[in-house]
Amino acid sequence: MIWSDLRREAEAAKNWILSLRRQLHKHPELMYEEFRTSQLVQDTLSELQIPFEAGIAETGVVGTLGSGDGPCIALRADMDALPIQEAADVEFRSEVDGKMHACGHDCHTAMLLGAAKVLKQREESLKGTVKLIFQPAEEGGAGGKRMSDAGVLANPNVSRIFGLHVWPMLPTGTFGSRAGTFLAAAGELDITIHGRGGHAAMPHQCIDPVVTAAKVITELQTIVSRELDPMNSAVISITSIHGGEAYNVIPEQVKLQGTIRALDTDTFQMLQKRIEETATQIAAAAQCRAEVAFPGNAYPATVNDDALWETVQELAGELVGSDHVHEIPALMGGEDFAFFAEQVPGCFVGLGIRNEDCGATYSVHHPMFKVDEDALPLGTALHACFAVHSLSQPTE
Ligand SMILES: [Zn+2]
Ligand SMILES: [Zn+2]
Repeated sequence: MIWSDLRREAEAAKNWILSLRRQLHKHPELMYEEFRTSQLVQDTLSELQIPFEAGIAETGVVGTLGSGDGPCIALRADMDALPIQEAADVEFRSEVDGKMHACGHDCHTAMLLGAAKVLKQREESLKGTVKLIFQPAEEGGAGGKRMSDAGVLANPNVSRIFGLHVWPMLPTGTFGSRAGTFLAAAGELDITIHGRGGHAAMPHQCIDPVVTAAKVITELQTIVSRELDPMNSAVISITSIHGGEAYNVIPEQVKLQGTIRALDTDTFQMLQKRIEETATQIAAAAQCRAEVAFPGNAYPATVNDDALWETVQELAGELVGSDHVHEIPALMGGEDFAFFAEQVPGCFVGLGIRNEDCGATYSVHHPMFKVDEDALPLGTALHACFAVHSLSQPTE
């Protein structure tokens, strides 16, 4: 069977994949600074004799393999690390102070290079083209959007895309995802409440932005609880308040920051609109003025194509047994794979990496985050299965 062959070939490449992953893990790079990482990807593709284009969206790389005629599909990995000081006890610990691959993007890159190796060995039999997309800046920099804007899904046109994320909630040897929305639309929020400062003993001569900020925060809680269908999940969290320095001074202004999450783009936009209306009108009622901004890059929801998830479930079932492939609940985390899946049918899947025996129990973005590396060949195998299966389909 081809699927078990692909699994065996991925397992045979395990040490090669782990060595790449560990090199990446030792040298984490933050968004749009993945130069060393990008170079390793390019060197590895060259070694595999896979042509590529580099320098897309700063550090992005797209490799191409296959036998030309037929459909074109894409496999995607992200390359950036996080500004976290690593505390995990691994021998290949981060050598860069304050930076860590705490979201497993080192594994994603290494697994996709593994798939490149496995697929290259059977390139003649691939009836079409596989694009290997290595993108920068998943962690808030919308590298996926920049890659997509740069045209990586065109020439030839990609008809479907697949991506993996290490998933610490699932044990090694399993996969999980779901039909439809898997991850949330996510964006940032800034509110500045302008008042009039003065002596705290004479509040009648001031316009107090602190009390107004408290009212705004309280009122924002009713948008999700009172205005949204209870079956439609969303989050508005105010995560930071800054205003004032002294016991006896009413400050000029108070700044609030927070995050907005929703499972679809319409709801996300509705939340933005209602946050703006609520903050400005509550502030106006208190004679203050609120400025509302949505900085950074809002990520759309990551929506899996239903039919593709069916296909991936079957392929993953061939690799690990169908009872180890799970339909899991949607999460309010954001993911910029969404920018690709907005353009073409996509499927984004969680790869189980949890293993108590090796301490791989912490969540992503935790300083103790650790991956059970035994899972990595499975990720490589599923990438390869997706490509081989997609290119054996009649042209869409
Ligand atoms: Zn992350
Ligand atoms: Zn991630």
